[in-house]
Amino acid sequence: MTRADHPATPVRPARPVLEVSGLSLRLRTPGGAAPVVTDVSFQVNPGQILGVVGESGSGKSLTALSVMRMLPAAVTVDSGTVSYLGQDLLTMPEREITALRGDRIGMVFQDPMAYLNPLMTVGAQIREVLRLHGMGRKAATARAVELLDLVGVRDPGKRVEDYPHQFSGGMRQRVVIAIAVANNPTLLIADEPTTALDVTVQAGILELLGRLRDELGTALLLITHDIGVVEDVCDSIMVMYAGRAVEQGAAAAVLGDPRHPYTRELMRSTPRLDVPVLRRLPAIPGQPPDVTRRPGGCPFHPRCPLAFDRCSEEMPPARDTGAGHRAACWLSAEPLPAPAVSTAPVREARHDDERTPILDVADARITYGRPSPLRRTPPRIIVDGVSLKAYPGRTLGLVGESGSGKSTLARTIVGLVPLLSGRISIDGMQWTDRDRRAELRRTVQMVFQDPYQSLNPRQTIETLLTEPLTVHRLVPREGRARRVAELMSLVGLPQSLLERYPYQLSGGQRQRVGIARALAVEPRLIVADEPVSALDVSVQAQIINLLADLRDELGLSYVVIAHDLSVVRHLCEDVAVMQAGVIVEQGPAERVFADPRHEYTRALLAASPGSREQVVS
Ligand code: SF4
Repeated sequence: MTRADHPATPVRPARPVLEVSGLSLRLRTPGGAAPVVTDVSFQVNPGQILGVVGESGSGKSLTALSVMRMLPAAVTVDSGTVSYLGQDLLTMPEREITALRGDRIGMVFQDPMAYLNPLMTVGAQIREVLRLHGMGRKAATARAVELLDLVGVRDPGKRVEDYPHQFSGGMRQRVVIAIAVANNPTLLIADEPTTALDVTVQAGILELLGRLRDELGTALLLITHDIGVVEDVCDSIMVMYAGRAVEQGAAAAVLGDPRHPYTRELMRSTPRLDVPVLRRLPAIPGQPPDVTRRPGGCPFHPRCPLAFDRCSEEMPPARDTGAGHRAACWLSAEPLPAPAVSTAPVREARHDDERTPILDVADARITYGRPSPLRRTPPRIIVDGVSLKAYPGRTLGLVGESGSGKSTLARTIVGLVPLLSGRISIDGMQWTDRDRRAELRRTVQMVFQDPYQSLNPRQTIETLLTEPLTVHRLVPREGRARRVAELMSLVGLPQSLLERYPYQLSGGQRQRVGIARALAVEPRLIVADEPVSALDVSVQAQIINLLADLRDELGLSYVVIAHDLSVVRHLCEDVAVMQAGVIVEQGPAERVFADPRHEYTRALLAASPGSREQVVS
């Protein structure tokens, strides 16, 4: 039997699996070539997980793609080496690197559907990788089942012949991991493998990656924007900003004593379950620089709370602060001075339940489709007998996994999905009162997860904000420009963006436009479905603060749907936990998070990043 027929026991190499040295990449732009990654060096040893963190545009994904020689056509390698077990990947003939990909080097990306072929069974796709690298047909069939079992797919013997659409998002990601590790790679590159997955599924995937590292000695390069994930599974960390590695070292050392202000601010702006809730999250101001307009000196200086004159003039070199911990900051020789802002928990919890609720949901039942004598099967129940209330000036968080019915309930509250039975009353009105629908549409508004998809790409920001004023005839024509200007300043956007189109804005700016559009009709209740889950942590903190400010200034009420429990804990006074269409627990947020009474709430909390047991052995 050849190795290909039985690749089960990898030999742990003694030297680093991956060594990247002085890597610099350039992007071709109409204005000339611009550096996108500058002088990045790191190594990953056998059985080690290196977490690469940073905001969008920091260069982390391009660094990973350069390892696979899969850079976009507009990006070229300027200098540096990338070596896999001593072999230079950048100069290796195409034939050889193709042989390494999928065999010795596996890849897992964020969106499993983009990677899986919808027309082939998952078994056929796993077998294809194995056969491509020389395994016999019979052995490949047996190994495909073994791999699905390894990644935690239940009943693998049966499911191996299912198609990708028959799997849930988390299970599809497991299939992609099964393909990536099919040939027991020595190196696995995972780019945001758990972003957008439920916390329990995320915990399962991270646990699996930790197990592969421990059992097979796989070296793992894990790209993530989530510091909690790094804390849970990574042995070492590299923090990237504006294309540079600004801090790197052992994860415990870097996260325990960050020496670069960017690392510390990223940590501080991430809402956590294990720290007191602050009135405002310490958000990093502004956004990362555009690739073609990087500032001189330290690229973080326009956003750095500790910047001083030298920072805008000279680029600080990366300095060793001990035991391989390096940081590129003029202040890195000493522990950073304590943050200037007060960290005292000042959010006041208000639970004046004697007030009339703005939203009163009583025994709501919602189904897919309506019952009919022509249907063979009864319609599927999505929400089953849910009752909850939201109060003026307060935020109700609705948490639960995908498929729990929380988004369907949200869409029913805003009148997009009909109720089968029960009652939803908003400020005393119901969607069944036909003559009050126009008023209801002004009273309740929705903010979506992906503002890009909810904003018409052909309209300027000014048109997008004027439209609701015109449709609802709220402001006379001559006063609309002033109201649009007010809305822009309310959500913290400069008036200069009014002539732009949505694609010309950053993700955070687009979400601010989505919020401004919802505010245009002066609603009393806003239903926000995953309003920050598509945003970088620093921008996420800015939007969480904005929502809290608007609630306090305008007396708004929110129903916020989020899969990230730390976001809910930070923003919400009340919380309702949904599982399989029913509310299993609800109450004041501080009580539910401190003393969860339902097993499912406890499982959700235990699976949240930053609160999990370290997967590191
Ligand atoms: Fe901040 Fe200056 Fe350090 Fe840059 S060098 S991170 S601007 S203190």
